[in-house]
Amino acid sequence: MEEQTPPVGRNRRRLWILAPVLLLTVLSLIFLATRAVHWSLQQSKTRLLTLVDIEHPVEDDYNVEFMLLGDGQMMDSRCVDDLEAMLADCRAAGGRPEITASFRTWGAQERFYEERLTALMAEQGLDEEAARARLTRKIEAPGYSEHQLGLAVDILEEGSELPEEEQSDTLTLRWLRENAWRYGFILRYAENKTAITGKDYRPWHFRYVGHEAAAQIVKLDLALEEYLEMFFS
Ligand SMILES: [Zn+2]
Repeated sequence: MEEQTPPVGRNRRRLWILAPVLLLTVLSLIFLATRAVHWSLQQSKTRLLTLVDIEHPVEDDYNVEFMLLGDGQMMDSRCVDDLEAMLADCRAAGGRPEITASFRTWGAQERFYEERLTALMAEQGLDEEAARARLTRKIEAPGYSEHQLGLAVDILEEGSELPEEEQSDTLTLRWLRENAWRYGFILRYAENKTAITGKDYRPWHFRYVGHEAAAQIVKLDLALEEYLEMFFS
């Protein structure tokens, strides 16, 4: 009887054909996994709830899609529709909202800070260290401002003669304080949260965090720091 020998030659040939396919599959999977990790890192880096404060600077490679508003201001495109709706409704309620600051580049924040620092030193005869310490609660050094995220906006009452610190009770800022959350914005440096934010009350500075977070933050009367600690730590 003739013994049957295994078809070694054919199996080898099959392997030679399969090897490149397998290799290609493995390489594709590695490539896709790398893209997925990169994508999710980007997502977490640019999330709406990014915290920027004295301990959390804006990351060097923070990058989102910006959108130019009609008046030359620039914001993260994710909040533009809500911002425009908020301003329109504020006007309809008799307010006169005017955006006085929005996205700032690192360089713009640096110039802004240095100008105020120089002015403070000159006005009050302070040395640089004392002036920097005094400014901490009022203005952010470059790298530490929410304006660099494109998610913060300063709004004052158009035509008001009052300095910004005294505009808290204007119709415009009162309306915004009560209603901003409906559009996903919060009053970031509230009067009753100065100990937590480390910043003076700024009735003009609104930060976009999205609808869900804004509603919870207002309902529970939290600072952004407290909200993140409570729900995300
Ligand atoms: Zn601001």
